[in-house]
Amino acid sequence: MTVLADLHTHSTASDGQYTPTELVHLAKDQGLEVLAITDHDTVDGLDEAVLAGERLKLRVIRGIEFAAKEYHTFHILGYGFDPNDYTLAVLCGDLKAGRDQRAPRIISYLKEQGVEVSLAEVEELAGGNIVGRPHFAQALIRRGYVSDSREAFGRYLDTEEFHQQVERPKPAARVCVEAIKKAGGWVSLAHPNQIRVDNETLESIIQELASYGLDAIECFYPQYTPEQQAFYFHLAEKYGLYLTGGSDFHGELIKPNICMSTLALNLDWLIEN
Ligand code: AMP
Ligand code: ZN
Ligand code: FE
Ligand code: FE
Repeated sequence: MTVLADLHTHSTASDGQYTPTELVHLAKDQGLEVLAITDHDTVDGLDEAVLAGERLKLRVIRGIEFAAKEYHTFHILGYGFDPNDYTLAVLCGDLKAGRDQRAPRIISYLKEQGVEVSLAEVEELAGGNIVGRPHFAQALIRRGYVSDSREAFGRYLDTEEFHQQVERPKPAARVCVEAIKKAGGWVSLAHPNQIRVDNETLESIIQELASYGLDAIECFYPQYTPEQQAFYFHLAEKYGLYLTGGSDFHGELIKPNICMSTLALNLDWLIEN
């Protein structure tokens, strides 16, 4: 049976614009039946979202998104895990510490480029939660250094220099996959197009992840070309993987051109009744 779903969204628990409760309301208003919140490196928003989902009769799936170290944008999604799992909590704790240590490095890096923003300001934008690059982008916009988030990333936050000088330590993909599996969850490879490797390399990545326990590939995502999507379907079929999909909605302030998706997905494997 298919359901209307979006399995990739971000809340204020990481770098999204809306609180978990607001996200659930937006999903309901849009006619979704299933919503997964997949904040970066944290499970903090999930209990609130599940509660809001129970009130609104919308199924909320607990999710998370990790960034693995092997490639620049190599993201791994987890679903339906035990949010109190110890190994997962330790990994999230380590990643939060890495982000907290990166924040002052970003401030100094920006200062070298003639851009003055304060840590307090960025932390305020993050609201005491996970500090992400989009919070820095918001501060740069607010101070008038750039006109939008695209410019903030293009000029400062996603340059080769940025990645070399200030990037935070990231776990190996194997560590991400195994932590989610150990917590009883399901694992999907997020937006494979963003890894920016050729098809042959991508296939070898999928093969390796499958050996760690990968369950699915994010086969529906706003920016895929038809060719990319067809290749992901092919890989899913070849390696016996499920299909997931989502918008990567962060709110229109953070990612201006992305709205929530309404995807018809078969999630029998993910949803127990
Ligand atoms: P972080 O995990 O703090 O390093 O930041 C990752 C976040 O920054 C994700 O939400 C990405 O969508 C966003 N991001 C990374 N690169 C870009 C980019 N070039 N343009 C816009 N957003 C980006
Ligand atoms: Zn994000
Ligand atoms: Fe991602
Ligand atoms: Fe994401």
